[in-house]
Amino acid sequence: MQCFYVNSCAFMMSTSAQKTVTLQDKTFSVFIPENEILAAVKSIADKINADYSGKEILFVAVLNGSFLFAADLLKNILVANTIDFVKLASYSGTTTTGSVKQIIGLNVDVKNKTVIVLEDIVDTGITLENIYNQLAKMEPKEIKTAALLFKPQSYSKSIAIDYSGIEIPNDFIVGYGLDYDGLGRNLRDIYVLNNK
Ligand code: 5GP
Ligand code: MG
Repeated sequence: MQCFYVNSCAFMMSTSAQKTVTLQDKTFSVFIPENEILAAVKSIADKINADYSGKEILFVAVLNGSFLFAADLLKNILVANTIDFVKLASYSGTTTTGSVKQIIGLNVDVKNKTVIVLEDIVDTGITLENIYNQLAKMEPKEIKTAALLFKPQSYSKSIAIDYSGIEIPNDFIVGYGLDYDGLGRNLRDIYVLNNK
């Protein structure tokens, strides 16, 4: 075992073949390796580049979870673009609260722009619907949505996910920006919760 947080030792990673991490009281096993994540990000970027060649995009990334997805995606975007961030929260621990709290709002002119919302993961869809409806009132030219991860069995909204990376079952995951109680966002791979 290797301890990453020297003081609290809250984060342990095993060195066995099946990589696991322990965050506070929960253990997670590797689920989507970094190379697959980055390939999915590149594939989304390629599609956006093809669809918006010669045009300009305003990306709106939903913090906190999407910060790594947004960074890696933008490194692969070849068309003119700007980015802004909103901060919304709907999860507490390993479950959705069923409502969305806005912590930082939109601070950009959206009128007549092509907007692509960037979500790390779409689960029930309440977060996506919240930001989509806010943007729709601001008279954009169009709104598209991109999500690195998508839980179709949990999704209860009608907004299309225009650019979807990897579909996953209804499990709780961490890593690559996604957290458990604030921990684990730094993990390069994505991990799934053990022993549901
Ligand atoms: P939704 O509003 O679609 O139910 O959930 C959206 C937000 O909840 C995501 O942007 C993410 O922040 C959080 N979330 C949803 N599923 C998971 C998950 O499996 N793991 C983690 N860490 N966060 C999740
Ligand atoms: Mg998110």
